[in-house]
Amino acid sequence: MKITLFWHRRDLRQHDNAGLAAALQSGHPVVPLFIYDREILDLLPSRRDARVTFIYDEVERLARQTEQQGGTFLAFYGRPLEVFEQLLSQHEVAAIYTNEDYEPYATERDTAVAALAARHGVAFHALKDQVIFAKNELLGKSGKPARVFGAYRKAWLEKLRDEHLQPYPSADLYTAPNLAQLPQPAPRPTLASMGFEEFRQQVPANELPPEELVRNYHLTRDSPGRVDSSTRRSVHLRFGTLSVRELMRQARDLNPKLLAELIWRDYFMLLLWHYPATATESFEPRLRQVPYRNNEAEFQAWCEGRTGYPLVDAGMRELNQTGYLPNRARIAAAGFLVKHLLIDWRWGDRYFADKLLDYDMAQNVGNWQWMAGTGVVAAPWFRVYSPQSQLDSYDADRAYVKRWLPELGTSAYPQPIVDHKFARERAIETLRTAYRAAGQ
Ligand SMILES: Cc1cc2nc3c(=O)[nH]c(=O)nc-3n(C[C@H](O)[C@H](O)[C@H](O)COP(=O)(O)OP(=O)(O)OC[C@H]3O[C@@H](n4cnc5c(N)ncnc54)[C@H](O)[C@@H]3O)c2cc1C
Repeated sequence: MKITLFWHRRDLRQHDNAGLAAALQSGHPVVPLFIYDREILDLLPSRRDARVTFIYDEVERLARQTEQQGGTFLAFYGRPLEVFEQLLSQHEVAAIYTNEDYEPYATERDTAVAALAARHGVAFHALKDQVIFAKNELLGKSGKPARVFGAYRKAWLEKLRDEHLQPYPSADLYTAPNLAQLPQPAPRPTLASMGFEEFRQQVPANELPPEELVRNYHLTRDSPGRVDSSTRRSVHLRFGTLSVRELMRQARDLNPKLLAELIWRDYFMLLLWHYPATATESFEPRLRQVPYRNNEAEFQAWCEGRTGYPLVDAGMRELNQTGYLPNRARIAAAGFLVKHLLIDWRWGDRYFADKLLDYDMAQNVGNWQWMAGTGVVAAPWFRVYSPQSQLDSYDADRAYVKRWLPELGTSAYPQPIVDHKFARERAIETLRTAYRAAGQ
């Protein structure tokens, strides 16, 4: 029996899944699969990682649903090339389907797997699923992505048609005749067999946020003290347990501000695909040689939420305890690290990468470089937010900081580790000198 393979990655759902729908219409029964990729997992700093448990739970859910429909779901712990080498030699594979992934490692990996498949005479199809416009679909006149977000968003909205947000019929097609049942499939790995501990952190259900929340989003999104200030769907967009088209349809109907935030997500993915080197290098060439101070003790104080600036500290404590922090707290924490402490944005990017449940390279790098003033979309490098004014504006009643800093207002809470006015001037002077030295 010839089979089609469908490879899940950051699309852990059966409904509204572009690649899965195409696989199920390929004319051959489908075997869906997931690979716990050692190239990624071996680099994680801890064996107790809530993201791995989240993925594991979702893969097991997909597997159970597949079995209920009479199909086989495969899962492996290994390296994708080796797994596919084995699958292609053991089965008669008609084609491999998957959804595109735009991170540098993923692009290289998929090129290698496509080449391996071609050597076996098997077609490899990667479909666009996690963004609305990808690769070369929405470029500026220069043939590259627009450098200004406003221009990109305008072009995005002009190009959008109803069909871009239509759901794919993968759930309806996910039934017995379209699924293959393999005799004696290998048992799926468990967390323990991969050397990981179970570690569950709270995440909202993978369903659309309440209508009321979406209608009020533009009014509440900057109030970190409210638990319902924003959608909190980032983790589901990260792992594809929610379809971005679904959320965009809701946002288009109810709240243009939320739609604009989702367009940022598309934009940062596009930028990373076009400029993969910016994952670790400043986009702005004149800010590639900034003499960051990189003081280890200050970095540690920032990581632990002990800077003496409540909005920064509350954000970092929430991140350390829950794997999440609201956008305003991300801005306050990131701005403080790169400007007030003059610590390399890559240190902060790395720390967030280790801790955030919704960590997504494109969004994290894009936002960190924006805060550092080094990015494709750069906030001016001389903008240095005052953490105190931010606190007064966005957490006037102190609901947020009191929740995360029980010792606030007592002698146990630290004094500011640096004076704002002094740090602001130091940051501007340092960046100006670097900018000029690089030849403005
Ligand atoms: C320094 C820094 C690092 C960040 N790192 C990440 C990251 O690793 N992963 C991540 O998903 N987001 C990141 N963000 C963006 C943003 O803070 C989060 O997406 C948001 O806080 C998630 O909460 P939410 O789902 O309630 O967002 P909502 O406000 O409800 O927005 C809905 C969705 O829109 C998208 N979105 C919102 N704001 C942004 C933004 N500024 N940039 C890109 N997409 C956005 C997200 O997919 C989000 O889930 C970062 C922001 C900063 C300042």
